[in-house]
Amino acid sequence: MDKEKKPTHSAGGVPAPRKLTGNAAARETPILPPVAIVKTPYFHILGYSVAGEETAVQIPELNTVFDIGKCPRPMLTSDFCLLSHGHIDHSAGIVYYLSQRFFQGMVPGTVLCPAAIADGLSGIIHAWAALEGKVVQHRLVPMQPGDEFELRRGLVVRAFATRHTVPSIGFTLIDRREKLKPDLAEKNLPGHVLRDMKARGERITYTLDVPLVAYTGDTSMGETLLQEGVRNARVLITECTFFERGHRRRATVGQHMHMSDLVEVLPQLQNELLLISHVSRRTYIGWAARQLAKATEGMTIVPRVEFLMDHAQRLEVLPGKAAAYVPVEPQSADAQDD
Ligand SMILES: [Zn+2]
Ligand SMILES: [Zn+2]
Repeated sequence: MDKEKKPTHSAGGVPAPRKLTGNAAARETPILPPVAIVKTPYFHILGYSVAGEETAVQIPELNTVFDIGKCPRPMLTSDFCLLSHGHIDHSAGIVYYLSQRFFQGMVPGTVLCPAAIADGLSGIIHAWAALEGKVVQHRLVPMQPGDEFELRRGLVVRAFATRHTVPSIGFTLIDRREKLKPDLAEKNLPGHVLRDMKARGERITYTLDVPLVAYTGDTSMGETLLQEGVRNARVLITECTFFERGHRRRATVGQHMHMSDLVEVLPQLQNELLLISHVSRRTYIGWAARQLAKATEGMTIVPRVEFLMDHAQRLEVLPGKAAAYVPVEPQSADAQDD
């Protein structure tokens, strides 16, 4: 380890990666996967998602991680893990997530999963006890489409139907509030009158549901996205694995979304932001974005459409130094031809 040379600094004050030689040179590409960070007016979305490799998407403010991939470290902090299906690129980190939370003195993790895989998942957690010496504390909640579960007062998760090669569900996080009925609000009644009405058993409020974010996990068919609470969630995080024209068959066989499926339903979506995840590793995101722009040319589309991994922060690791986040260089528009 050469300790005499200090790393040079770029104009922005960010340490420039040191030039490595020999064996170390082979490790110049980031050792840790890049983590995407998307800011919305309501919450942040952190995640890593590459088809077949790993998917974990976290909303820290809502105490939730959708799928757990290989359990990227920041995801440990969410008390609720909402598992869309059991494919290993979405679920491999589940026992680690539960175990590390116990090790770090956090409350036991709660895992919501498709009802059909609850026994299998429980089996894995218990099988690990043979190695760890004890069953890690956890709570497993089997969910069917339409089922609801309260994460905290006023924050509810509802499962919705998706279609994949194995049992699967999607999740919508809903902000649920009790509001005074409009006719009563209009009358501007004093508080004690409303309290008396309530005491007499009259219903003075109605329930207002605001779908904050919907997450599909892996799914085929665009109709999945048209369900109530999905098409109108403020943020929709959906998979779209394939973009190449020749990959329609792959999409059908793997029960994944092809860009053409997404384009078909896009004009009906009312989301503020649509975040595309689970893009195949062989697809360059800049190219995919241009295909999508071409395919939707002239359409009136409400959602702002973005790619989750386009927001990835690359981790540069200097030997013997703490890792630092370095923003990705913006891709030049003509980086790759169509
Ligand atoms: Zn997957
Ligand atoms: Zn899958």
